Amino acid sequence: MYASSINYRRRKMKKKNTTTKYIIRTVIIIIALIIAYFLIKMIKYSDFMQALNQTGAPMPPEATKQPSDKYSAILDNFTFNDDTTGTKAIGQTQTITEDTPNTYCAVNYPVIGMDSIDSVLKAEADNIIAQFNTENAEYIADSPEARAYLNVDYQSYVTGDSIASFVYDIQYTSPDSKSPVQEVRTHNFLLATGNDITFDKILMGDYLEYLSYKTTEYVNANPEFYKKDSDEAEKYTKNYSASARNFKDFSVSMNGLTLYFMPGRIAPKKFGYVSFTIPSKDILPFMVFDPFKKVKLPVTEIAQPEEAVQPAAPTIDPSKPMVAFTFDDGPNKGSTERILNTLEKHGVHATFFLVGNRIDYNKDIVKRMHELGCDVASHSFDHAQLNDLKKKKIKQEYSRTNSILKNLIGDKAHFVRTPYGTHTDKILEATDYPVILWNVDTEDWKSRNKKKILKRVIGKVNDGDIILMHDIYDSTADAVETMVPKLIKQGYQIVSVSEMFEAKGVEPKNGTVYYNIR
Ligand code: ZN
Repeated sequence: MYASSINYRRRKMKKKNTTTKYIIRTVIIIIALIIAYFLIKMIKYSDFMQALNQTGAPMPPEATKQPSDKYSAILDNFTFNDDTTGTKAIGQTQTITEDTPNTYCAVNYPVIGMDSIDSVLKAEADNIIAQFNTENAEYIADSPEARAYLNVDYQSYVTGDSIASFVYDIQYTSPDSKSPVQEVRTHNFLLATGNDITFDKILMGDYLEYLSYKTTEYVNANPEFYKKDSDEAEKYTKNYSASARNFKDFSVSMNGLTLYFMPGRIAPKKFGYVSFTIPSKDILPFMVFDPFKKVKLPVTEIAQPEEAVQPAAPTIDPSKPMVAFTFDDGPNKGSTERILNTLEKHGVHATFFLVGNRIDYNKDIVKRMHELGCDVASHSFDHAQLNDLKKKKIKQEYSRTNSILKNLIGDKAHFVRTPYGTHTDKILEATDYPVILWNVDTEDWKSRNKKKILKRVIGKVNDGDIILMHDIYDSTADAVETMVPKLIKQGYQIVSVSEMFEAKGVEPKNGTVYYNIR
């Protein structure tokens, strides 16, 4: 009885001890958890602060790179340009143009030969035009004289064998804005699948902190953006904090990852959209796979004209009939080049009336035009309706294009064709050039049809005629391929405007309009 009573008390004591221990253990665990929570929070916070204060870059995650060999085979299916280091590495350029009394747009977009990607890129091009038209509809309804312009070009990149990136470079002038507005839109795809990619699909670890850190570095390297520590600064810095919503537009090239920011996001609007590239070696540790692995890209053969008989400098016979070929609205990749091929093949010249703001994208084409002996002439800087402008601005339309041409080919334009052929007294007074219009209109922009274009020329032209065409359409390039040998066979000489002036013994006069030269 006694012993069992002690045993009972011991058991009771033991039970009491166990309960106390259990409570103490629980409390310790809870305290440990609280401490751990704050430690983690502090570490995360200090990481973030570190990124912002730039005392050190966020650390890349452990490498888990997958080889991207499996994609190699698919490359055969795509259309590549021969210049894989250039800014149009993949795709053939197509152009959409719209030329209405109130709007003018020229939009270049790529076609690469994979439906899922091509449909997205085409839809974006259509979307840009639709948005442009919607935004301007209101102005145009209010003022029938309103003019708006849209110019879009793209850059495309392929990395190794895995990512294709497309960047639409958008410039537009709305009726109420004096200078062009710039915008950028990007599309990125995994070539293996055609699926689009976003940052979270290709980057891992603390990549947002890293992008924020690199952007801070970039902004700090550009002190002209805004004064640091000002109220203004706050407006921009919040737009590159380590948040997914701040990083949307990018492209990947063999050089690395390029980030794009819309005007007014991380720098004042007047700087346009800004972009900078994080070198491939720096971003690679944050990438889910290695897109920079070098792979030899297949080069799509671009059809060359058959062996051309090296043409001697053409001697124009003034006693025989001649017609002047003139092309407006270019230069344009593809179609303009094809027209030059045809002219070169037959050893003849034409006159190209260029839109100044399209020259930068197509420098090589303009150089070639000049080297072939064609007239490089002016169609204003941005295809403005000149009659809406003050005389000073009209002169600027010519001088801007001329300064680009002088840098590129060492010569200014010697002739102009005013956009839409408008030639009011005001325009002519402000134009220190002969104004070359036309008397044969192919209406190639309307029909976009080779047969219809040929029908308006073959059998219809006479000696001294000036023929109007647009070198931005493939249908026009098609027609020119047939038209040139046909006219030559019929006894016509195909000449540039300057050759026609010379052969006819006519001295071109500034501010005078020419429809033909006889
Ligand atoms: Zn035009």
